[in-house]
Amino acid sequence: MQSQKKQWKLLHNLNNALFTQKEPVQITHFVTERCNAHCPHCFVETSAQKKELSLEEIEEISKTCGSSLRNIALTGGEPFIRDDLFEIADIWYKNSTIKTVSLCTNGSMPDKTEDFVSKAVKKNLPVSFFFSYDFTEEKHSEYRNIKDLHLKVLESYKAVNQYFPKFNATFNITLSKENYKSAYETYKFIRDVLIVQNINCTLVRGKNAELLTQEEKNEIASVYRQIQTVLDDDFDNSRISAYPNNSLTNIVLNTKNKIIWKYVLKTFEQNKYLSPCCAGALFGVIFSSGNVFPCELLNSQIGNLKDFGYNYMNLWKSEQAEAIRNNIVNSKCFCTFECIWLLNIFSQPKYYAEILYHAIRSTRHHT
Ligand code: SF4
Ligand code: SF4
Repeated sequence: MQSQKKQWKLLHNLNNALFTQKEPVQITHFVTERCNAHCPHCFVETSAQKKELSLEEIEEISKTCGSSLRNIALTGGEPFIRDDLFEIADIWYKNSTIKTVSLCTNGSMPDKTEDFVSKAVKKNLPVSFFFSYDFTEEKHSEYRNIKDLHLKVLESYKAVNQYFPKFNATFNITLSKENYKSAYETYKFIRDVLIVQNINCTLVRGKNAELLTQEEKNEIASVYRQIQTVLDDDFDNSRISAYPNNSLTNIVLNTKNKIIWKYVLKTFEQNKYLSPCCAGALFGVIFSSGNVFPCELLNSQIGNLKDFGYNYMNLWKSEQAEAIRNNIVNSKCFCTFECIWLLNIFSQPKYYAEILYHAIRSTRHHT
């Protein structure tokens, strides 16, 4: 009976991902837009004071996101500014069908991180932490405008890493026009001096990406290629552990980076549409006030959850949602947003041969 239920669920999820695309698989929840940092490349309106969804409201929403949801990414602003961040994560895990929580933070609050992690351990909550890191040492603190941030982020990382491999922890470099010249050095510093579990490199997006000159774009593309090539090699040679153990999920997660960055780079360099985007179908964004968008970049609001009785699927099935979904596909909208590329690749069979090839290679390297 149990295995029949599992098979049915698997079929349902495959049908949703590959054909109907009616339920979200991943949601990014901006728990707040407040932030204690001032990063020049930020695209979030961090100064805007909005009324944030309460725990009671999140409780209602989290029960109504369909049965395909696999991951919730909690972000901000700085998510740890909210004192009830653990409760928010716990509510999502308890009420929805998610398997993992991702937490994106600037790492400036080690005490709160420690508290969060100790609660997550007790409740067996599967969390992946992403710490932003743009420059080596003091320069990082200066850039993000938080005193001693480079030390605080390391303290936060250690709070998580004490439970390795229970929790994944990744340092993320966002390549922007401000840091690309030193980004490769930053990568090596994180790998060789800080020695962290996993490193990720993403391209700046939003209006700061649009403002880049062609020359800056070419140079950023070249650094991105350099870091990603070394990252692949470091993973293959176990210099970084990425997602440890050889479970199927982790093999897939480790494989994804090797595929995604090539398509992201191609889109960035050629400024060209390559694949239909599944934002608004498999992916959605809830802002702190309850406004829902298909992604963080497109200025097309689907609605506010308060106007749909806090029922996510009612909003997702609305005429406005359908119109926005159609518009995204028909206008051949494209961008370099890595999370969307992950879903685009896994929801389109034309990429499967490549996934399989890298998954087999990756398993060979790590057995
Ligand atoms: S920490 Fe994140 S949200 Fe805060 S200002 Fe920097 S980029 Fe923006
Ligand atoms: S291509 Fe990018 S900007 Fe367009 S809908 Fe998809 S995620 Fe949003």
